[in-house]
Amino acid sequence: MNICVIGTGYVGLVTGTVFAELGNEVVCVDNVAEKIENLNRRKLPIYEPGLQELVERNHNEGRLKFSTDAKSAVEFSEIIFICVGTPSSDSGETDLSAVEAVAKLIAKHMNGYKIVVNKSTVPVGTGDLVRNIINKHCVDGHKFDVVSNPEFLREGQAVNDALNPDRIIIGASEKQVAYRLLELYSSLQAPMIITDVYSAEIIKYASNSFLAMKISFINAVADLCEMVGADVEDVANGVGRDPRIGVDFLNSGLGFGGSCFPKDVKSLLHTSGKLGYDFNLLKNVLEINEGRVDRFTSLIRRRFPDMKGKTFAVLGLAFKPNTDDMRDAKSVEVINDLLKGGAVIRAFDPVAMPAAQKVLPSITYCQTAYEACNGADALLLITEWREFKLLNLEKIKQTMKNPVIFDGRNMYNPERKKRLGFEYFGLGRKFSNHMPEKGK
Ligand code: NAD
Repeated sequence: MNICVIGTGYVGLVTGTVFAELGNEVVCVDNVAEKIENLNRRKLPIYEPGLQELVERNHNEGRLKFSTDAKSAVEFSEIIFICVGTPSSDSGETDLSAVEAVAKLIAKHMNGYKIVVNKSTVPVGTGDLVRNIINKHCVDGHKFDVVSNPEFLREGQAVNDALNPDRIIIGASEKQVAYRLLELYSSLQAPMIITDVYSAEIIKYASNSFLAMKISFINAVADLCEMVGADVEDVANGVGRDPRIGVDFLNSGLGFGGSCFPKDVKSLLHTSGKLGYDFNLLKNVLEINEGRVDRFTSLIRRRFPDMKGKTFAVLGLAFKPNTDDMRDAKSVEVINDLLKGGAVIRAFDPVAMPAAQKVLPSITYCQTAYEACNGADALLLITEWREFKLLNLEKIKQTMKNPVIFDGRNMYNPERKKRLGFEYFGLGRKFSNHMPEKGK
C-alpha cells in the first residue's frame, strides 16, 4: 500500500519505518526541514534501539522516503497517518493545533479517496474534529474516512513494540474501512480489536492512566513502608505475583515522567471535567506523582543541610532508560532543585546528554559514570539504565568524597550497598539510612 506518515518523531518515524519493513511504500513527512535533510543522510533525530539499521535498509531499498513536500505525499497515498505531537496546556487541555494544521493540509492536497488515521494520542471527539476540518477545507469534495488507531509503542523498545504489538486497536465508523487498515497489519501476530472511533480514542487514555495509577499507587505504599520500616520492593513483588495485578509498573521511586503519562492523565482528567465527571482518582494519581521529587530532594537536604559547593554525581538524565527523550524527565526537576541550593552537578547518561544540554546547560557532563562520581559527595541514581546496575561500586567508592547513594529508582540492594560501606537512601526501602529501625 502507499502510505504517508505526517510527523516524523518517535511515533511517526518508527511507524513509517515498520510499515516500510512490512513491504509498503512509505513517505514520512515533517515540517522541520533540517530533520528531513538529516534523515535523507540517514542521520536520525532520535535514539531508539534497532531503528538506525531498519531506516537505512528500507531507505536504501527505496520503500522509505523522507520529505517536507506534504502535497506530493498526500497525493501519493491511500492511507495517511497523523503522528504529530499533542502536548497539554497548563489546564490539562490537549493542544490540538498540530493535528488541526495537518487536517487542513490533507484537505488541501486530497486528490481522491483517502483514509485519514489519527495515530497521535487525541481526546475523544478529535476524529469528529478532523472530519469537520477536512470537510470544510476540501474544495473538490473527495471522499474520505477518519479512523482512530492509537499507538502503544514504548520509547526505548519502540521498534520491537511496533513489530510485535500486544494489540491493534482500530476505531472506525465503517467495518469496511477498519478491514482495509487491518490489511496493513495483517502480517503481525497481534489481537486486532475493532471499535467505534470514540472507544478507540478512550482506550489509549484509559490505558496510560491505568499504568500511571499503578505507579502512583505503589509510591503511596512506599511512603507507608517508610513509616513502619517495611520494604516496598518486597511488598511490590508480593502484590504483583497475583496475576490479576501483575508485577509491571509497580516500581516505586521518583514517579512517572516523559512525554505521555503526565499529559495523558491530565488530558483524561480535563476531558472528564468538561463532560461533568469529577475523576478524583486521577487527581490523586497526579498529586502523588508530583510529590515524588520533593520527597527525594528532602532526603538529600536532610543529609546535606548546606548544599552550597557540594558535588552530586547524577546518573541518568533521560525520562527512562534506553531513550534520549528528556521531555518531563525527573532529572530536570531534581537537578534544578539542587542547583538552587548551590550544589554542583556532574552528570552522565549513556545517550541523552546532547538532548539534556538544551534544558540543563549549566551542569558538567562526564564521559562515564565513573568520571561523574569522581570527587562527588553523593551519587544520585535518577534513571535506571541497566549499565548503572553493573557498575563497580567498590571502585567508585574509592574516588568519592563521601560514599553516599541516593537511589531514586530503588535499583540497588540497600543491604549490599551498606555492606560495601555506603550510606544508602532509597524510597520506601528497608535498611535505607533514614528508615526507622522497626520491622528489622
Ligand atoms: P514528537 O514530538 O517526537 O514528533 C512529532 C513530530 O511532528 C515532530 O517531528 C514535529 O516536527 C512534527 N510536526 C509537528 N507539526 C507538524 C506539521 N504541521 N506537519 C508535519 N510535521 C509536523 O512526538 P511523538 O513522541 O512521536 O508523539 C506523537 C504523538 O504520538 C503524540 O500524540 C503522542 O502522545 C503519541 N504517542 C507517543 C508515544 C511515545 O512514546 N512518544 C507513544 C504512543 C503515542
